[in-house]
Amino acid sequence: MTDAAFVYPDTQLLIDGTWRPGADGMSIPVIDPATGETIGKVAHATRADLDAALAAVDRGFGIWSATSAFERSKLMRKAAELLRVRADRIAWIMTREQGKPLAEARAEVLAASDIIDWFAEEARRTYGQIIPARTPGVMQMAVKLPVGPVAAFTPWNFPINQVVRKLSAALAAGCSIIVKAPEETPASPAELVRAFVDAGLPAGVANLVYGVPAEISEYLIPHPVIRKISFTGSTPVGKHLAALAGQHMKRATMELGGHAPAIVFDDADLDKAVSLLAASKFRNAGQVCISPTRFLVQDGAFPSFLAAFTQAAKSIKVGNGLDAATRMGPLANDRRIPALEALIQDAVERGATLQTGGRRVGNTGNFFEPTVLANVPTEARLMNEEPFGPLAIVNRFSTLDEAIAEANRLPFGLASYAFTGSAATAHALGMRIEAGMTTINQNSLALPEVPFGGIKDSGYGSEGGSDAIEPYLITKFVSTAA
Ligand code: NAD
Repeated sequence: MTDAAFVYPDTQLLIDGTWRPGADGMSIPVIDPATGETIGKVAHATRADLDAALAAVDRGFGIWSATSAFERSKLMRKAAELLRVRADRIAWIMTREQGKPLAEARAEVLAASDIIDWFAEEARRTYGQIIPARTPGVMQMAVKLPVGPVAAFTPWNFPINQVVRKLSAALAAGCSIIVKAPEETPASPAELVRAFVDAGLPAGVANLVYGVPAEISEYLIPHPVIRKISFTGSTPVGKHLAALAGQHMKRATMELGGHAPAIVFDDADLDKAVSLLAASKFRNAGQVCISPTRFLVQDGAFPSFLAAFTQAAKSIKVGNGLDAATRMGPLANDRRIPALEALIQDAVERGATLQTGGRRVGNTGNFFEPTVLANVPTEARLMNEEPFGPLAIVNRFSTLDEAIAEANRLPFGLASYAFTGSAATAHALGMRIEAGMTTINQNSLALPEVPFGGIKDSGYGSEGGSDAIEPYLITKFVSTAA
């Protein structure tokens, strides 16, 4: 696919069904992380724009909550179909603004269509209950109703998928929504929202804004029109926004950082462990909240795993995501380069061995080498802070208890991975690892039909599976007598 095939679009706000610039005409440049070039701009919302979006989302709620689940579901399926038809162009836009290889971008767009379909089905199953009454002639019902207008805040690592889980769950439930999408990667999420608009979504039901994240969240979260918050991003920002939501008695879903352990036992299929874990680690240049980071390998398997994993890291072709041969693109933001370098330097100074990588690649674009560090001491920053980049730690352990203690040591609890040939070990891990998700001998996280979410400092609420629509619904008790 060549650059000539598509044109990178400027991104506008969507308020009350109209795509338009911000009220004061301000915009923010969008940078291609592979070249450092400015490729477009995104409109910047002012307070007046936010007020207009709030009025629209309030009206939109009246319309959408009165639309039958059957009709909502039909419209959502149409949007999913439009997205599939437009996948090539949207994937190209995403690669330009975010950097990930085109194949990963395309997979993200198609996965978004599946997520929309899943929630379109869920829309028709928001069952309540009939509760036997104590008094003859009385009927008691618990009915599920949409919670109200939603404010959603999403990051740049999966520009579409972070939005689609929130948008689809809200729309399926009958809620309207204001999405504050990422300024770094604005155009691909705008294309997602456009698919819903083109499918016939009434004006005001979904609104899209960009601007200064902290200013927008501080204004929208306390606002009386907004009844539900959903945020994906770092733990410190999540704690701040959750506190704000709590102060204003707003429901919140928080999808935050992780530091996933990947435990490999002596009895594991090592080839499979290396190939699946290397693919997971370096996907999206490691800028993934569920990325495996602490590879804990049992004594007997340690030397061969380390050699094979290091080799796998070395063989990854780093380059512009538009090149078909590229397996890992640039980091999305230049601020991550000094952050990663500092983590590596600290680990090496404390005694870790740098097996491969560790440096920026070239002087143009935010390219970074796939990096493997071995025997990283517990006190190194890298063992405690989420790297959010292509950095893997390979450390050794001797016993199951030791591995579980290390896996559970950190306050994070999002994803966890393990490879073992023993059913007893697999069972123990499934029950004892403190994480929202544990996957053993394979890798099938983040499918629409399975739960997706963290515990401890990784947040609360699930954005996948049959639980995911619930945070957008209230349970209302109604009893009637003739
Ligand atoms: P950051 O914490 O500055 O920003 C993360 C996201 O939150 C961005 O999209 C940002 O626009 C938004 N944000 C920041 N402050 C906000 C506020 N006050 N109100 C509303 N939104 C706000 O971090 P970063 O440098 O962009 O990314 C690095 C870190 O972010 C990583 O270490 C990782 O923990 C976290 N992150 C997590 C995910 C995830 O999928 N859970 C995704 C992206 C980033």
